Amino acid sequence: MANNPNISILPHNDCCGCRACGDVCPVSCISFNKDNEGFLYPCVNNDTCIHCGKCTKTCPELKQDFNNVPDNVMAAFALSNTARQAGSSGGLFGLIAESVINKGGKVWGAAFDDNLQLRHICATTIVGLEPLLRSKYLQSDTSGCFKQIAKDLKNGTLTLFCGTPCQCNALRNYVGENRNLYLIDLICHGVPSQDLFDKSIAWFEKKNKCKVNRFIFRSKYKGALHPQAFTCQCSVNGKQKNVNGLHYQFPFYFGFQKYITLRPSCYTCKWARSERSGDITLGDFWGIDKLEPSLDPKQGLSEVLVNTQKGHELMRDIIDVEKVWTKEFTFNQVAGENGCLHGPTKMKPERAELFRDLQTMSFDDIVKAHFVSKRQWIFDLYYGMPGFLRKIIRKVMDKRMKYE
Ligand SMILES: Cc1cc2nc3c(=O)[nH]c(=O)nc-3n(C[C@H](O)[C@H](O)[C@H](O)COP(=O)(O)OP(=O)(O)OC[C@H]3O[C@@H](n4cnc5c(N)ncnc54)[C@H](O)[C@@H]3O)c2cc1C
Repeated sequence: MANNPNISILPHNDCCGCRACGDVCPVSCISFNKDNEGFLYPCVNNDTCIHCGKCTKTCPELKQDFNNVPDNVMAAFALSNTARQAGSSGGLFGLIAESVINKGGKVWGAAFDDNLQLRHICATTIVGLEPLLRSKYLQSDTSGCFKQIAKDLKNGTLTLFCGTPCQCNALRNYVGENRNLYLIDLICHGVPSQDLFDKSIAWFEKKNKCKVNRFIFRSKYKGALHPQAFTCQCSVNGKQKNVNGLHYQFPFYFGFQKYITLRPSCYTCKWARSERSGDITLGDFWGIDKLEPSLDPKQGLSEVLVNTQKGHELMRDIIDVEKVWTKEFTFNQVAGENGCLHGPTKMKPERAELFRDLQTMSFDDIVKAHFVSKRQWIFDLYYGMPGFLRKIIRKVMDKRMKYE
């Protein structure tokens, strides 16, 4: 490593922010600093660094570890309606997590704390699983969990970790191959920062004169799971209130759906491909209605890629007890509708403009300049229509409501 007082591990825009380097460093010489876009990056103190190289050996950007192309691909959903509705797609994560907990294992996933900070935490009971369920569309802070998982695995603890593919790769680099570790990676098109989420929450609280206690991405809208709906649980003058909305009514969500707020490394993601880092990969099965017209993805449907023998074990545990509906498909049938299995999200020029303006403008002005749809009236009209009309329009325009 070079002789500067503070140095980085790899080029700035390559770092995926998994934070495994901070956990693996034996002399704690790696700290994390926010850059001017609001993302956290590792910074090595060269005065205390002992040059052991553990950080570079653990870094998933420097060492990728992929399984073979999945040999078993299926559509699936939890048969219990409660379990299905509790997840962001088919509720598969919840079922698998329950079965691991029932065997005495520990489950790690992303959960908001009381201050709406997203962190990877560990659940050891079914009740404790609840905050882990559902997608939260920002980067989760995984600091500390790699160290704890390594300790648990040494003690023989059965462990399930669910996260983005880069986080799963980082964990595998950290602990090596371990019989008791099961990994679920998500089909992921990228993560914005906690910083931008905090700013959007503050903006929302000011606008609605409320305190946001809970934020749910992809909540129900007009009776069905909706990829662009949110629910904000707020307190207003001491009373609890739910505010429901669609992406264009919350700046962070609008930016996420436009792909203009993701971490730079997400636009060159090395894991946006068919070979995966998890034993199982979970995603949304958009387009299933073309293959199986009786199924509606808006009721919650997961696509499941089973990538390893351990992945088969996890699936068998929930299939054998008849907790899940499954139907097999070929990889090409599934991947056809899911761009993130083919390559990373494309960066748009608006991203640079947004982050340039964030340096100088107030957040109110940022919202007006970047997070208000010029076609807001079209959104209002479209989402105000009965579902069947929207369906016809979508069919006519042949434009599916995925992540756009
Ligand atoms: C940032 C992000 C982007 C995604 N993009 C796509 C996509 O483009 N295409 C697609 O098909 N699917 C995508 N997904 C996956 C999808 O939204 C569902 O999470 C997945 O299908 C699993 O649903 P489920 O009902 O089985 O489980 P759920 O109950 O929804 O469980 C989701 C699991 O993901 C973990 N998790 C949630 N948020 C995060 C986070 N920010 N970082 C790490 N782990 C997290 C939870 O802890 C839980 O373990 C994305 C998910 C995330 C978090």
